Amino acid sequence: MKCAELNRLLSPYIDGELDLQSALAVEAHLQECPRCSAAIAGVQTLRTAISRACEPAKAPLRLREAVQAQFAAAPQQATSRSLGFCLAATPGIAALLIVGWLALAQPWNAQSSAGTAQGTRIVYHLAGGNHVKANLRTLKNHLDAEPNLQVVVVAHSDGINFLLQGAQDTEGQPYIGALRELRARGVEFRVCTNTLTRQQIDTRAVVPEAVLVPSGIAEISRLQKKEGYTYLRL
Ligand SMILES: [Zn+2]
Repeated sequence: MKCAELNRLLSPYIDGELDLQSALAVEAHLQECPRCSAAIAGVQTLRTAISRACEPAKAPLRLREAVQAQFAAAPQQATSRSLGFCLAATPGIAALLIVGWLALAQPWNAQSSAGTAQGTRIVYHLAGGNHVKANLRTLKNHLDAEPNLQVVVVAHSDGINFLLQGAQDTEGQPYIGALRELRARGVEFRVCTNTLTRQQIDTRAVVPEAVLVPSGIAEISRLQKKEGYTYLRL
């Protein structure tokens, strides 16, 4: 990959919108190119500052209802991409959608060799810093619906912020209680070290409930290919 191409993919990469193959290519280039690495660090720092300064926008009720109606009318068309859109737009119905979608996608259980005995394995990809509270609630609801579920949350870009010491939601409530509750139920949290390096965050700032992995994207890819995890986007 050349610098010009990376430049084109910079925004979708930071937003976590790239497919895994493109994201891996971006990460490989960033490892080798100090100039692009510095550029992405600058953009991420700016975005983090902006997102911390701004209240996350709430989807209007009419949009939520329209999305819900669409899913009710054509549930079989729910792809992970449109699901991702809905989660971003309407966190309030995220849990319903995830659980509903999983119910529709039961063939996974039959097909996955890892699925039946030990419970379905899900890797949740968390790339954004908004709606974290709703995302954690989604996880809890998902576990309530499927107690045998094995869940790994891989966080990178702004998705890591709630896993830093002292992190709070928009109402000033610490995340640590919800995190510990999910950890107690077996949910694993993995933080991208590449993101920490780029955002110049000390690894000691990460809560002990989370573990570090060299690259969030590579970890997601590895879990899918080597350990039979199914990908879901938060
Ligand atoms: Zn470059």
